[in-house]
Amino acid sequence: MSRQFRAILISKTDKGQSLAFVTFNEDELMPGDVTVAVEHSTVNYKDGLAVTGRAPIIRHFPLIPGVDFAGTVTASGHRLIKAGDKVILNGWGVGESHHGGYAGLARVKGDWLVPVPENMTTADTMAIGTAGYTAMLCVIALERQGVRPEDGEILVTGAAGGVGSIAIALLAKLGYRVAASTGRPEEEAFLRNLGATQIIDRGEFAGPVKALAKARFAGAVDAVGSTTLANVLSQINPEGAVAACGLAQGMDLPGSVAPFILRGVKLIGINSVTASPTRRAEAWSRLSRDLDLARLKDLTSHARLDDVPAIAADIIAGKIRGRVVIDI
Ligand code: NDP
Repeated sequence: MSRQFRAILISKTDKGQSLAFVTFNEDELMPGDVTVAVEHSTVNYKDGLAVTGRAPIIRHFPLIPGVDFAGTVTASGHRLIKAGDKVILNGWGVGESHHGGYAGLARVKGDWLVPVPENMTTADTMAIGTAGYTAMLCVIALERQGVRPEDGEILVTGAAGGVGSIAIALLAKLGYRVAASTGRPEEEAFLRNLGATQIIDRGEFAGPVKALAKARFAGAVDAVGSTTLANVLSQINPEGAVAACGLAQGMDLPGSVAPFILRGVKLIGINSVTASPTRRAEAWSRLSRDLDLARLKDLTSHARLDDVPAIAADIIAGKIRGRVVIDI
């Protein structure tokens, strides 16, 4: 018998996008070989864009948004996944073109799922969410470029946001000195508690971009893009690296090639959405080892499905601190 569950549904007409809380039927879900009883989802920046309609994230209407979720498998035709397994979904177009996590049930391809690490609950994995998994991909990218703790300070931009706060916690636990760039000086104690040793006003990276400025960081995790990323690149030490994953300030990159050709600085792009299963497994295994779960709790708050529209507006306005788990 087809089960019914509560969901958020985004529709589109000539007048634009609209959001409704609906009762959805299991047999209306899209094709997939695994059905999951969703326990938790979360609100990432991309969910904010999708739910508010601020950017054309949703490419199929009507659609259940939510780019990630974690829960328990209720039915599986996948050879490696069985009913009762605890699983995580990040990306793969879920919440964009495939029904997503703001719902009681989800049906997806088993190949998209990652097992919940043994030392974590489904709530922990959504406290990490796509933002935290992306932060881990950024840290791994810096390591692959040979950036070591002894090389100097690592800058994290968008520090009080989801990617930024988890990147700080990870880097600090791995022994790096972390400078946190934020526009919210009132979050200094929060950022220092996560492990930041220096707080920098994000205004320092907002001004006109110099081709090369004083080199002062061994590397950076950038969640902001635009003028900020261009200024950050101009301040990276020779042979240092920047992992760029975000566009909270903008999509543009109004910079110079000088850092690349005169200092050998590397700019590494991070795309979590279609990262291979091998890279996902590596990232989640590293998160289970390298993220202090007590720190994770400090940066996480919980909310309900009904709160998603307001949280979506707040994340786009840059008002959300750390991570918000949606308890389904
Ligand atoms: P959050 O909104 O939680 O964090 C973004 C932070 O950026 C804000 O908290 C704020 O930090 C800072 N910020 C916001 N607006 C501006 C601005 N105009 N100028 C400078 N800084 C600004 O979002 P997430 O952490 O979830 O995501 C961060 C970015 O990473 C987003 O652009 C998102 O789309 C992207 N992303 C990309 C992924 C990928 O696969 N490439 C995956 C996940 C996220 P503060 O208040 O500290 O200044």
